[in-house]
Formats: sequence, structure tokens, C-alpha cells
Amino acid sequence: MTKFIFVTGGVVSSLGKGLTCASIGMLLEHRGLNVRLQKFDPYINVDPGLLSPAQHGEVYVLDDGTTADLDLGHYERFTNTKLTWYSSWTTGQIYQRVFEKENRGEYGGATVQVIPHITNEIKQCIMRLGGSDTDVVITEIGGTVGDIESLPHMEAIRQFALDVGKENCLYIHLTLIPFLNAAKELKTKPTQHSVGQLRQIGIQPDILICRTEVSLSQEERAKIGLFCNISTDAVIEEKDKDFSIYEVPLSLTENKLDQLIVDKLRIDNASLLDLSDWRELVSKLRNPQHEITVAVVGEFAGYRDAYKSTYEAIEHAGVQYSTRVRVIWKPSREVLQANARYELGKANAIIVSGSFGESEIDGKVDAVRIAREGNIPFLGIGLGMQSAIIEFARNVIGLDNANSTEYDKDTPHPVISLLDEHRTYIRNGGTLKIGADTTVFKVGSLIHTAYGKNQLAYERFRHRYEFNNQYREQLERSEMQITATSPDSLLAQGVELPNHNWFVGVQYHPEFKSQPTKPHPLFNALVNAAIKTIKKQ
Ligand code: GLN
Repeated sequence: MTKFIFVTGGVVSSLGKGLTCASIGMLLEHRGLNVRLQKFDPYINVDPGLLSPAQHGEVYVLDDGTTADLDLGHYERFTNTKLTWYSSWTTGQIYQRVFEKENRGEYGGATVQVIPHITNEIKQCIMRLGGSDTDVVITEIGGTVGDIESLPHMEAIRQFALDVGKENCLYIHLTLIPFLNAAKELKTKPTQHSVGQLRQIGIQPDILICRTEVSLSQEERAKIGLFCNISTDAVIEEKDKDFSIYEVPLSLTENKLDQLIVDKLRIDNASLLDLSDWRELVSKLRNPQHEITVAVVGEFAGYRDAYKSTYEAIEHAGVQYSTRVRVIWKPSREVLQANARYELGKANAIIVSGSFGESEIDGKVDAVRIAREGNIPFLGIGLGMQSAIIEFARNVIGLDNANSTEYDKDTPHPVISLLDEHRTYIRNGGTLKIGADTTVFKVGSLIHTAYGKNQLAYERFRHRYEFNNQYREQLERSEMQITATSPDSLLAQGVELPNHNWFVGVQYHPEFKSQPTKPHPLFNALVNAAIKTIKKQ
């Protein structure tokens, strides 16, 4: 029988519920259990792909093309669980399913209500993840207890225990224990109120995970437990990690969280915990041999979460080479300014990121030029690859004002454009390519070498514009080589410059496939090339 864990948050938002869920998933997987993870977001949006990265952080893409909240990135980095569109739900999507059912007459004329129709839909989405091959489903409820928007979710998870039996459900509440500097004291009252609110809804948390700046004493844990009706051993401390998020699961297991979960849910097939791979990761992170600087150019460079997966992927590759990576973020529009150009020119590697919609394309093109002319290791992702082609077309092939039709409809040289289903150039239309697909590498190319023996990979795409094949001959006659394509060879999915320290652009998003213990080959190759530049200095 699948067991169900529900994780709610209290007191304030941004406590790191996603990270905590990912860490719990990672610990249970390391105990030999099959885990599935999912998140419910309380907002009404139906398409998280349209949310601004400036407000919500990056739009995360799954293999099956689901666009989701960035917390799903944590789930995939910490665990090997398979995420699908059943792993990510917004309130809007739940309502949409209910409207569709009503339209199909499935409610037989009944009045459609939050309880039971919306709550039933939520419960079905949770239940769908269970099954004979799943030991534990971890469901994160977005938002904070007390929010009007989260109420239907709270009600649904309360009812869930009635459906499957309380012994198969575990409620974990993540809360904040603030430290008041003036009083030099930890304050437990906000947590008492938050748990009080949960209990009003009918949920008694089984485990309390307390985010705190300072360690909780045994007395403090006992006091919190007493007021919240939880045994002291189920009051778990999650101290702030000033160093790395990858330490969170280590500290949770020190506080015996995984054992508590296994005991409380009476899971009898859990193995002993072996975290040697993870401990090695943290030890490498803490003891770097080199330091490099990587500049990342993107629209939302001021918002770190907007490129969360890219940042993590760089760090994973850094760990692989025992290297501390200092990342400097440059908004595309600033690249044209002298001081930004100077900083980019000094970096050990440059990444030009992907982007959807609004973009300062000339800034990106200029960043590529700095990398190409300065022989600085370069990785272009999505629009970053497109910018590399535009830069090369303009400054090397001599196609003045070459551009993507996304940014200049009337460019004389639409090197990046929309293509129709026959892969030929069209002015309007085009379809969004989203989700994972096969990409094939040219044998012996930089990209192929980075991946090792594999000549193809299954990578995640999210784009509408493509390299325009009318310019293919011209490009291939020059130095820039197309070294990754769609299996029919008609779509350019990777380009490179052979006579450069390391210069690769890919249409897909390698950052979504990087894990701390399994860094992505392209980030590895970039970091490796960057380290070589310091050795030469
Ligand atoms: N905006 C570009 C396109 O739609 C690039 C998207 C991306 O960076 N993935 O093709």
C-alpha cells in the first residue's frame, strides 16, 4: 500500500518547502523506497509557462513538456523520481478539470461546489501517483496555512486520511521559529498559532520541521511539542544552511527525520541509510581546489531564481572538478556598457542563457562576441545558441543586420526564424517545441566528446524559433559547425567553433538534466575548459 506524506507550510512563505520535500524524497530513496513527488500551487494561472521569471523564478520544464514551478527542479535534482504532468497542479488547472467534467455532463446536473467537486479532484490527483510500484507519495501544498487560497487543498488532504486510513498518511508542517535579537530568544508563538489554524481545519500535524537560525534546545522542542500536541522527538530542527542547500538532507537525517517517517508510517521495506555519495558531494563542495568565475548573461539576471537550474548545474560541474564557481550575473541590456564588457572579458567562462519573449538580443550577441574574440569558454543555451549564430552571421560571415525574426521581423538575413512542418522558413505561425526529444551528435565534435560515448541524448526543449536552413550551407562553409541535430538532420540543435578554447551553443536546456551527483556533460566540459584557462594564466 502506498503511503502519503503531506507537507504544509506555516508562519511565512519562502521557508523552503520545496527543498524540504526534495530532501525527504532523497532520504527515503536512499533507504531503498520508490518515491513520487508532486506540488499543488494555490494560484489560479492555468499555464505556469506564462508566469514571469522575475516574479516566480524560472519556468521549469519536464520531459513530457509540462511547464512547472521551480520547486520541481529541486525534486529532480535531489531524487531520481519520475515527474510528469501529474506532479504539478495549479488551482486553475484543478478548476479547469472540474469545468470540463461539468461540460461533459459528468455531474448529472448537480450543483458544482468546492466541497466535494474541487476537493475530490485534488484527491484524485494525489491518488493517481500511488500504486503498486510506489512506496511513498510526497505532496507539497504551496502557500501558507491560513491563506484563503490554500483552504480547498487543506480540506482535501484532511479528507484523504478518511479515504485511505490515517495510518497511511503523515502530515508534516514546516514552520519558522524566529530568533528575536533584542530578547536573545527563540519565539514559538507564531508556530503555535500556525498549528492552531491547521487543527481548526481538522489536521493535526504528526511532525513539525522548524526552520531556525539557532539550534533548538531540548526544552524548546518539548515546549513546542506540548503546545502543538506533538511528541518532542517529532519536533525536528532545520537550521539555516549558510553554505549549501545540499546539506539540508544531511541535517534532517541527523535529526532522525527519515527514521521517524519510516516508524510513523510503519514502512517495513526501508533499508538502512547510505548517504556516502551525498557526503562526498558536500565534502567536495566544502574543499575546492580551484576557483573560477562564470558570467551568466540573461534578461532576468537580477533575479537569481530566474536561472535557478543553470546556477545549480554550474555548481554541480564545479563539484565534479573540485572547483568553487563564482557566478556573476549580467542583465543582457548592460552588456553594451563598458564596465560590464570588462567583467565579461575577465570571466573564465560565459554562459548566454535562454529567454522567452522580451529580450535584449543585441546585448546577448555582444556577449557572444566577447567570448568568441576573447577565446573565453562559452555555452549558449536556447536563445544563447541563437545569439551565437546571429553574432557569427553578422561579424564573421558578414551578413549585416542578421537577426531572429522574433526580434526583427524585417531583417534582411533571418538566420533564426519560424519553420513550418516541412522545416522550411515561414513568417508567421510556428509551433512551440516543448519537452524532451532526441538530439543526435556529429561524431568527434566537441558536443559528442563532452557526452562521451553516447552519440545521442534525450534533452529538454522549449522554443519556437529555429535556425533557418536557407543559411545552412553558408554557415557550414564557414568555421561554425552544426554538430547536433534532430534525428532527421533538418533542425540545428547544437553549433560549435572547433578552433576555440571551448565554444558550444545548444537549442535545448541542459540545465534541466543536471544533478549534483550526476552533473550534465556540457556544464562539465565548460567548467573543465574554464579551469584550463586559469592554468594557462
Ligand atoms: N525565444 C526563443 C525561441 O522561442 C528561444 C527560447 C529559448 O531560449 N529556449 O525560439
